Amino acid sequence: MKLGQFEIIAISDGSFLIDGGTMFGVVPRILWQKIWKPDELNRIEIPLNCLLIKTPKAKILVDTGIGNKHDEKFREMYKIKQPPDLAVGLAKCNTTFEEIDFVINTHLHFDHCGWNTIVKQDKQNTNYGNGERIVVPTFPKAKYVIQKQEWYDATHPNERTRASYLKINYIPVEEAGQLILVDGEQEIVPGVKVINTIGHTRGHQSVLIESGGKKAIYWGDFMPTSAHVKLSYHTSFDLYPMELLELKRKYLKMVIDEHWLMIFEHDPDVVFAYLEEEKGKPVLKPVCNEKS
Ligand SMILES: [Zn+2]
Repeated sequence: MKLGQFEIIAISDGSFLIDGGTMFGVVPRILWQKIWKPDELNRIEIPLNCLLIKTPKAKILVDTGIGNKHDEKFREMYKIKQPPDLAVGLAKCNTTFEEIDFVINTHLHFDHCGWNTIVKQDKQNTNYGNGERIVVPTFPKAKYVIQKQEWYDATHPNERTRASYLKINYIPVEEAGQLILVDGEQEIVPGVKVINTIGHTRGHQSVLIESGGKKAIYWGDFMPTSAHVKLSYHTSFDLYPMELLELKRKYLKMVIDEHWLMIFEHDPDVVFAYLEEEKGKPVLKPVCNEKS
């Protein structure tokens, strides 16, 4: 898809299953199951939509899915469905790992930074970091952009957050000297900037893309699906829901007023959409659901 002089492409890293209730927080199942039908174990299938941004100056990858490093037990627990995966998707876009200049992680939960790193050598093929398993950054020339606060929280998890953070996805990046920690709003290359969208985590960032007078926003888990455009819809993973609510109110007004294209990371049907006001009410206008 074109955005001014830029090209923006959604790339799928497959999907996984989670409990449907966690995706919709306080919204009762009787309501959310109308839009997303759960299986017999109350689970729903969550797609992983990453984004490749090609600007005249750089190739930028936003979020890297769930990756390919997990053992059978983990893959089975979350019913990870691949292919498609990010490596295949990038190849389809004629983009090699070496060509990626920047990786931006909205945050470091395991479904957002899986392809940050890959196994270079795995003689034992057992647990993470064991024996001779060597894990390295997937994108050898890339700088990885993460909020300072998120980095702190990912490296100091607590009982509530521990299961979401897998160090194997980001410590090798630091060890390789490829990490850039930013604090709040920051331009990464002309036309691509990160903005701090606190709520899901306190160091969460979204990516604002601007070219030729057109704007797009990749929300990450700030608004994981188009259903979460509703102010009352929050996931139960959100650690700061009240801050999220107020920020969401502010940003959705800008989305409507300035005609931003929204990109949803976990929506099975709507990847790109606008929001327009009709008779005083916000109405979602999906434009494209194409993925590589
Ligand atoms: Zn997520």
